[in-house]
Amino acid sequence: MGCCDAPGLMPIEEALDKMLTPITPVSETLQLPLPEALGFVLAEDILSPINVPPFDNSAMDGYAIRLRDLEKSTTLTMVGKSFAGAPFEGEWPEMTTIRIMTGAKIPEGCDAVIMQENTSVEGNSITFNQCSPKANMNIRPTGDDIRQGDVVLRKGARLTARDIPMIATLGISHLTVYRKPKVAFFSTGDELRPLGTTLSDGQIYDSNRYGIKPLIENFGCEAIDLGIIPDCQETLKATFEDAQLQADVVITSGGVSVGEADYTKDILEELGQIGFWKLAIKPGKPFAFGELDHAWFCGLPGNPVSAVLTMYVLVQPLIAKLSGHSEWKAPESIPAITRSAFKKAPGRTDYQRGIYTLEDGQFVVETTGNQSSGAFRSMSLANCFVVLERDRGSVEAGETVQIQLFNPTLF
Ligand code: AMP
Ligand code: MG
Repeated sequence: MGCCDAPGLMPIEEALDKMLTPITPVSETLQLPLPEALGFVLAEDILSPINVPPFDNSAMDGYAIRLRDLEKSTTLTMVGKSFAGAPFEGEWPEMTTIRIMTGAKIPEGCDAVIMQENTSVEGNSITFNQCSPKANMNIRPTGDDIRQGDVVLRKGARLTARDIPMIATLGISHLTVYRKPKVAFFSTGDELRPLGTTLSDGQIYDSNRYGIKPLIENFGCEAIDLGIIPDCQETLKATFEDAQLQADVVITSGGVSVGEADYTKDILEELGQIGFWKLAIKPGKPFAFGELDHAWFCGLPGNPVSAVLTMYVLVQPLIAKLSGHSEWKAPESIPAITRSAFKKAPGRTDYQRGIYTLEDGQFVVETTGNQSSGAFRSMSLANCFVVLERDRGSVEAGETVQIQLFNPTLF
């Protein structure tokens, strides 16, 4: 079945193309101390100003030797010490050895370090039990890890907890990064109540803001929570106007499906150019995207699973582009064998919630059960999405499907 069998539904790729094409990344930069730069996007290449390690040093606790001395005798006299931060200084006489610790500077003329486990010690007399050491054994040479002038990270990389200590080894204390995009968000709906209140008949707790905020932050943005806005034209309009003055992107949840759509539509048409789309994605069919006078706008469906999923699939790439995170990559798909059946009709790409395990090196996956777009328990139980292609129908147990493992940008 082709997409013509699902008339009017826009494929995800087309939606992404329409969303990403007009986006220009933020250009303002700031200087941050290294420890505060975690999660920011680099606005400069990082070149190493030094060699790492900056000097030849020992990989072991042991004894520094010259091969020619050892050829003559397997017992040498210890005449000095080289400790980390306190190198051996002075003359190193022939037929002697220097006690050396891990990380300590290799003395001039040393060919190898013999680990202490391969020696017998009697006072200052050291006997080497392993008598044929190779040149350079247990020596970490200057620049072994990073050479002076090497590009270690490129502009457009988002700084991780693995990058920060690596940059610290270079002695770089400040970085130039792009400012984080600001994303204002609010929930819409007369039925929504904040936490800490009691529900009356027909009301539910607003959960979407609690799903959307961590995602905004995990995607590397500053989140501005504008609360719950009732389905009231004036309040909605005032909130949109306030939001777009504070933020680069305004995200709403609810009110974009049929019924309320026209309502929100009128306001948004006054404030900018917004497209209301029906996407070939499940869950998450109703979605709005466009440009207000001062900010981009994404209107997520109200159903909680749909809201989080469209954030992940559609808003994440948009924010990556806006943040200047040019090294961003879409989540990877991995083949897995199904342990349960997955119900599906052709026509939409379906992101079902699954639980994967590894069995003898093979990914296997089963459903979390109830796949309703309102049933958020399925997200909480899952550890992956089971991505069923648009044209695919139901899947039997034993078939191969593509899964996307949950990762730190999700929850
Ligand atoms: P809507 O898109 O506004 O038509 O909402 C679709 C469904 O999602 C309805 O069942 C709403 O009650 C529910 N919903 C909308 N917004 C939220 C929210 N912030 N938290 C939890 N459920 C919501
Ligand atoms: Mg609503």
